[in-house]
Amino acid sequence: MVVILKENPNKTQLDSLVKWLENKGIEIHPTVGVHQTILGLVGDTSAIDIDLLNALDIVEDVKRIQEPYKNANRKFHPTDSVVKVGNTQIGGGTLTLIAGPCSVESEEQICSVARSVKASGATILRGGAFKPRTSPYSFQGLRDEGIRLLKVAKEETGLPIVTEIMDASQLDLFEDVDMIQVGARNMQNFELLKLLGHVDKPILLKRGLSATYEELLMSAEYIMAGGNMNVVLCERGIRTFETYTRNTMDVSAVPVLKKLSHLPVVVDPSHSGGRSALVPALSCAAVAAGADGLIIEVHNDPSRALCDGPQSLRPEVFDSLAKKLRVISDVCRSSVNEEEAV
Ligand code: PEP
Ligand code: MN
Repeated sequence: MVVILKENPNKTQLDSLVKWLENKGIEIHPTVGVHQTILGLVGDTSAIDIDLLNALDIVEDVKRIQEPYKNANRKFHPTDSVVKVGNTQIGGGTLTLIAGPCSVESEEQICSVARSVKASGATILRGGAFKPRTSPYSFQGLRDEGIRLLKVAKEETGLPIVTEIMDASQLDLFEDVDMIQVGARNMQNFELLKLLGHVDKPILLKRGLSATYEELLMSAEYIMAGGNMNVVLCERGIRTFETYTRNTMDVSAVPVLKKLSHLPVVVDPSHSGGRSALVPALSCAAVAAGADGLIIEVHNDPSRALCDGPQSLRPEVFDSLAKKLRVISDVCRSSVNEEEAV
């Protein structure tokens, strides 16, 4: 971090700034020019509030050189993280398929979808019990009953389950849930993120509708700063000026997030495209870009789904897509290995 001071800074204020930074373990390297003095700050500056520095009378400007996140940063953790979810994992050179309905609707529905996605190669079952809906009049999810039914499906199929938490008060219900999803709308619910930092379960953190990569990584940092290192990042499409698709899948998010961070990255092509016909192409693109997994909505009867039917795949479509994705994944991973060997 570099702090550019105003001309002729007040000596007392400068001394107290230097002391404050040194107390935080920061080494200071001043460069004194004719008109301006620059302080080079060396050390772990991730915990320094840039706005606090900027607000000081003697400070002209502050520039960050290092990213403001540390735990999520690949610089401090060069190897890829692998996150364990029940009896399976995300990351580490495998392609993980997470599939299931947008919402849990009945025992018959969740168990039948769970059986079919498992047969197609999915290793984690998704299903919403608490649903963040735009309208308060839309189906809000079966709530605790939804979690109970997910557990029934888990018992029957052996698939670990992932479901969304919307509020800290729901946490007790998640005891037997294998992975907790933080939805796009809650990506910056910092109190919830802090709470999940103290939970011994992997977290699927979805990118907010208009969040930058850095904002997503700072949200991951909130969880990791509490001690929970098991975070998986999820690109689920962002808001753009385009209205044809529900969101715009940002395929660049995969290589960029994997460059900046060691955390696994999965992609949600369902909420990106918002239309089932787009899901296969978006899924293929995400895998080719290097995603560690996909989270795909699958429903046994999409036309009658209580939530997100238009973007849900029928089980047989998911089955043929899963086969294709394995081929793409194998080709892309072997070509990456060959490049590394050269
Ligand atoms: C979901 O996964 O069903 C969901 C609501 O996702 P998002 O938070 O990405 O909109
Ligand atoms: Mn959905």
